[in-house]
Amino acid sequence: MLILDAHLDLSMNALEWNRDLTRPIEEIREREQGLADKPDRGRGVVCFPEMRRGGIGICVATQIARYVKRANPLPGWHSPEQAWAQTQGQLAWYRAMEERGELVQIKTRGELQKQVELWNGALVSKPARLDGHADRAGLETGAPPIGYILSLEGADSILSFKHLEQAYEQGLRALGPAHYGPGLYAQGTDATGKFPARGRELLREMDRLGMILDVTHLTDEEFWEALELYQGPIWASHSDCRALAPHQRQLNDDQIKALAERGAVIGAALDAWMMVPNWVRQKTTPQAVGLKLEKLVEHIDHACQLAGSARHSGIGSDLDGGFGREQAPMDLETIADLSRIPDMLKARGYSDGDIRAIAHGNFLTFLNSALPQ
Ligand SMILES: [Zn+2]
Repeated sequence: MLILDAHLDLSMNALEWNRDLTRPIEEIREREQGLADKPDRGRGVVCFPEMRRGGIGICVATQIARYVKRANPLPGWHSPEQAWAQTQGQLAWYRAMEERGELVQIKTRGELQKQVELWNGALVSKPARLDGHADRAGLETGAPPIGYILSLEGADSILSFKHLEQAYEQGLRALGPAHYGPGLYAQGTDATGKFPARGRELLREMDRLGMILDVTHLTDEEFWEALELYQGPIWASHSDCRALAPHQRQLNDDQIKALAERGAVIGAALDAWMMVPNWVRQKTTPQAVGLKLEKLVEHIDHACQLAGSARHSGIGSDLDGGFGREQAPMDLETIADLSRIPDMLKARGYSDGDIRAIAHGNFLTFLNSALPQ
């Protein structure tokens, strides 16, 4: 079944982790043996062959670059200009992957439709196995390119609204003003407070351009402010449920209900610390808390129960967001395991229509009205 993953940081992995995502996952892991500069060295789970093996034919892929002021302890660039340049370098990598036939950019409804047909055709002729182990002989060779919709995570790199326009022309279709805060346009995760004036201005400019607003990583104050201020399409690309993993990073029940009323789609994420309570990074292990992929289905189910239907849930795995197997479900070997989610939903009694909606349909319907013609 076609899987749409609404959040991957592909270019960050290519340029900051120095991962060649065109290579097999075993080779990427092997080349990182002995490195200790990132917590997930040797344990990455995302590369193009594994995405194809799992039927992940469409994704939302980010540009991401934080600006940090002198006192900010978070990693990041020392000027917004460097952050802008980093996102432009990331775009250059996406373009090089397009030239190789690995990726194809989706900017319009027509391009989206084409990509869906391409992958549905490929998956019909070589159906991915859904029995718990994606078929290694499946879509590795001769598979069509993976479609990507460009999104910006954290807006620090937007030097001016001219730069935002330029980014839109480059195909940027979604933007989350915040990441881990404080940022230039929003406070973000682990921070508090409302939008600064320039953040509210950013929302107006995004509205004018017809962009998708990603509310993931906003503070609670900003979340409600955004719902009021923003006229255009809204999604939460990679957000789990606070009721199951209490932290401000996750959406609370009122937020999930409000998003459903607004026609949003919420992508459930596979970062362990967002899935279970009391996770301590680099201390807790998936084995110690028995974290399995099934937990993601619990988050999806919780959101569906609150929304009153399965029309507002999807997958935004975040599986290359600065962590690997050490901070993901213990029964997940690579991103290809997303192909097991449809069977897990079936076991919970979800109908075939609802399963397709969660696997890809809800995000496709959303994009089909949010993208330009
Ligand atoms: Zn994120």
